[in-house]
Amino acid sequence: MRENIKDIVSKNVQNIEISGIRKFFNKVAKYPGAISLTLGQPDFNVPEKVKKAMIDAISENKTTYTSNAGIVELRKEISKYLKTQDINYDEDEICITVGGSEGLMDVFTALINPLDKILIPTPAYPAYESCVKLLGGEIVNYKLNEDFSINFEELENLISRENPKSMIVSYPSNPTGAILSKEDADKLHEIIKKNEITVISDEMYSSLCFKDTYFSIAQFEDIKDRVIAVGGFSKMFSMTGLRIGYVCAVEEFMNSIMKVHQYNVSCAPSIVQYGAYEGLKSCMEDVEYMRNEFIKRRDYLYGRLIKIGFEANIPMGAFYMFPSIRKFNMKSEEFCERLLKEAGVAVVPGDAFGPGGEGYMRISYAYSMEQLKEASDRIESFIRSL
Ligand code: PLP
Repeated sequence: MRENIKDIVSKNVQNIEISGIRKFFNKVAKYPGAISLTLGQPDFNVPEKVKKAMIDAISENKTTYTSNAGIVELRKEISKYLKTQDINYDEDEICITVGGSEGLMDVFTALINPLDKILIPTPAYPAYESCVKLLGGEIVNYKLNEDFSINFEELENLISRENPKSMIVSYPSNPTGAILSKEDADKLHEIIKKNEITVISDEMYSSLCFKDTYFSIAQFEDIKDRVIAVGGFSKMFSMTGLRIGYVCAVEEFMNSIMKVHQYNVSCAPSIVQYGAYEGLKSCMEDVEYMRNEFIKRRDYLYGRLIKIGFEANIPMGAFYMFPSIRKFNMKSEEFCERLLKEAGVAVVPGDAFGPGGEGYMRISYAYSMEQLKEASDRIESFIRSL
């Protein structure tokens, strides 16, 4: 075997690591009987009508390449769905991607030159940082407030000091469960209006907002040419393995994003596009059911953690809780290692989500109530034993 393979791979690839979420998930296998609350994967089945639409698509041989942007029926349906959230993109401003992941990578690739500065919240979904590093971009982290809302003072300082090209806004948030409030959407709007900056708004969990009104930076028409939105169906229709998402942007941006998308993947999987189309047309009740189930699970888990003595913000979206573990005087990695070894519960150390995640752990409650109950009992015994 060649000895220098590690040095042959690109410097940018050498500079990134595999996701801390996966690392911890993989450890669980070594502890038989451990409960894993590590993954952002709903435990619901794909809605029946979505399954049937995909089976029909196969039977009808709809298995060829689609247009690069994706089937127009689906893009029109996404456009209609976004209008229900006060977000306006027509079908030509939407590109169907292989999950939100491809969407994000396409957008980053279309925007980033080496050494371009990109503002990334911390804590945040780890892919942002790795994708930006892969492209040779420079990361400028912006910290969040204690409730995981945007710290506007710091944001404005960073924008004037660092002159970043682009910023990522990520609500409803993985890992914190925070959402964007109306006041914060308005404040952000003012800042974006004043500055020459492009926002990449990751709205993967927009269907899992626990408030009735949804707020997003993509709702402001006057800055539409400064915002690119990324969404998807992995969480919405509980179809993480089927790999489908989308990007929304004005034409000029979309032309460039489409070039990247075309050479990466040509198009998203055809049969899944038909599934997502059916989902948007006739499975919104399933989405509502899942959302309500997540709210019940959140309430249960939150209640238990607070009783045990954790400090935590109540999540208002997605399906993650991000309690503080600072009072136990351990680094998040050590705390989570011990929780796994001594109590048989796997959660993700907060530092997997960047420096702002140190002092926290991420619990995914996309798991059954039984698992959440058992895990809470175990966490309780563990904390009592400290
Ligand atoms: N953005 C966020 C915030 C996520 O949590 C995830 C997945 O966990 C993604 C994007 C990627 O989603 P997908 O599975 O559709 O690629």
